[in-house]
Amino acid sequence: MSFAVTHFLVPVILIDLIRDHIFKKHRRKLPNKYIFLAGIGGMLPDIDMVVWFALRFFLGDSVPDVHRTFTHTIFFPIALFALTFISYKYVKHKWCYKAAGMIAIGWTIHLILDVVVLGTIMPFYPLSELAIGLNPTLGNCDLDCRVLAGIDATMLILWLIHEEIEHKISDFL
Ligand SMILES: [Zn+2]
Repeated sequence: MSFAVTHFLVPVILIDLIRDHIFKKHRRKLPNKYIFLAGIGGMLPDIDMVVWFALRFFLGDSVPDVHRTFTHTIFFPIALFALTFISYKYVKHKWCYKAAGMIAIGWTIHLILDVVVLGTIMPFYPLSELAIGLNPTLGNCDLDCRVLAGIDATMLILWLIHEEIEHKISDFL
C-alpha cells in the first residue's frame, strides 16, 4: 500500500493536465470532483489487499494471497468502460458516465503502473495465469519499499508544486 499515493496521484495529475491544457475550453464539463474519482479508481484495484488482511484476521493464515489477481485483470477496465458507454448512451444524468469513465481510467492506469514499475499482474486471471511485468524480479522488500516510498514522496511533492502554481494552495496553510 506504500504505493497508494502514486496510484491516486498519477491519474489525478494526468487528467488534470489534459483538462487544463488540452481541453481548456471545456474545462467546466469536468469539475474537480470527477478528477478526484479518477484518483479513487486508481486505488481501487488494491482493495484485494484490504480484503485479504481482513479475511486473514478472521480466518487465519490459511487464506490464500490473491493480490494482483482478480482485481488486476483486464476484465474490470473492460466492464467499467462498457458501463461508461452504456450510461453515456442510455442514462440521462451526465454524472453517471463521467463518474464511471473516471473510475475506468484510474483503474486502467493502476494496472499500467503495476506492470511498468514493479512486479507482475495476471491480466486474464482466472482463465490464464500468464503474468506480465517489466520489472518482475524486484523481490527485495527493503529496496522495493524504499523505491516505492521515494516514488510516492516525489509524486506528492510534484503535485503540491503544481497545485501551488495553479491554485495557490499555500493560502490554506
Ligand atoms: Zn496493484
